[in-house]
Amino acid sequence: MNTAISEKARMVNVQRIYWTAPIMTLTLFGVGAFHALTLEAASPVLADWRRQTMVVNALGGIGSLVGWVIAAKLRKRPASDRSLVVFQYAVVGALLLFGIVKAVIDQRMLISVTPILLVSTIVGTFYYLRPSRAVVVFFSFGLIYYFSLIHLSELPLSALSVSLSNGILAVSLGFSLSLINWRNFRLTEQQREQIESQQAILEKMAYQDPLTGLPNRRFLDLVVQAELKRMGRNGRQSCLIMFDIDDFKRVNDTYGHPVGDGVLCETAKLLQKSMRGSDILVRLGGEEFILLVPDTPLSEAVSLADRLRSQVGDHVFNVEGCQVQITASFGVAPLETVEETKNYLSSVDKALYLAKGEGKNRIAFWQESTLESPGEREAGAAVDV
Ligand code: GH3
Ligand code: MG
Ligand code: MG
Repeated sequence: MNTAISEKARMVNVQRIYWTAPIMTLTLFGVGAFHALTLEAASPVLADWRRQTMVVNALGGIGSLVGWVIAAKLRKRPASDRSLVVFQYAVVGALLLFGIVKAVIDQRMLISVTPILLVSTIVGTFYYLRPSRAVVVFFSFGLIYYFSLIHLSELPLSALSVSLSNGILAVSLGFSLSLINWRNFRLTEQQREQIESQQAILEKMAYQDPLTGLPNRRFLDLVVQAELKRMGRNGRQSCLIMFDIDDFKRVNDTYGHPVGDGVLCETAKLLQKSMRGSDILVRLGGEEFILLVPDTPLSEAVSLADRLRSQVGDHVFNVEGCQVQITASFGVAPLETVEETKNYLSSVDKALYLAKGEGKNRIAFWQESTLESPGEREAGAAVDV
């Protein structure tokens, strides 16, 4: 979890660098150019300050441009890439260093901690830094600022004290912002992950039959819609095999409901062993199941159904110490490209009804689309196997 949050944070940081670096580059070059144009009109002290500011801005602008180019490459890398870590801290370090250099230069004109305040706030609010790292970053920043000012500034002691104390306050503010920022980020991420995992569970529950673990009717609706589209593209036939356990009520009455439940689960497992990877077995409800067999002509689906029927009939289910034998009736039909996809079960349902009517433990199929007229459909579409 912690690693995931750190990785997410570093991706966001690199993205932010990518989006803001061009603005920084333009601003730094723009301000530098302004100083270059107004250099002549200035007093010697001001001209000197402008010259130094130009150099620092030019270096900052180049650095920002380089940062942008690197960020453009790194943002496509996986979050686990170590170079992202190095890069984000290099940018933070460069930003803070820029602030210190600018602050030291500005001291020549007035007592100002604006650059320190600015970079502290930017780093504190803009980048997500793990607190254990942020403390090192801001502490080092404060120390470097302190010693740079003492050694490089020409300010009298009184002015120096003002700059130092205000500067340290600015650094402390940046650190506080960084902590708050990280905490909010971490909480938001944790909430997001929690919501996502709950959504995944709910989604699973919505599409899964709790007893057998098989997909349910709602899932079948989705799969059939996709399958119909796929059939429309590749022109191959897919079939549905619907089956219903015969006299299941008797199983419940004889052995009890829990054994009946066990038989349903075992039936699902038994059939899954005989399926291809692309076949989809669904529990429609009660003791009724359906198998979607993609890219399979009706004749092959009928053979498969017959194999499954024998398998179910021959199997001795051993549930809670009870030996149970069952049979099932099967209906087979091609999956038709009908406009109202809700109707996709009607043919296979008719086939199953026929199989039941003919005496159970058998197969029937129903192929509507090959018949010429509705009259013929009624007359002889179903063939008992
Ligand atoms: P037929 O051969 O005509 O299909 O007869 P049948 O007894 O299998 O069908 P019927 O529709 O008369 O009864 C279905 C039975 O399936 C009754 C019901 O209690 C049982 N059943 C439905 N769902 C479950 C379940 O989840 N667990 C158990 N144990 N039994 C179930
Ligand atoms: Mg039944
Ligand atoms: Mg039934």
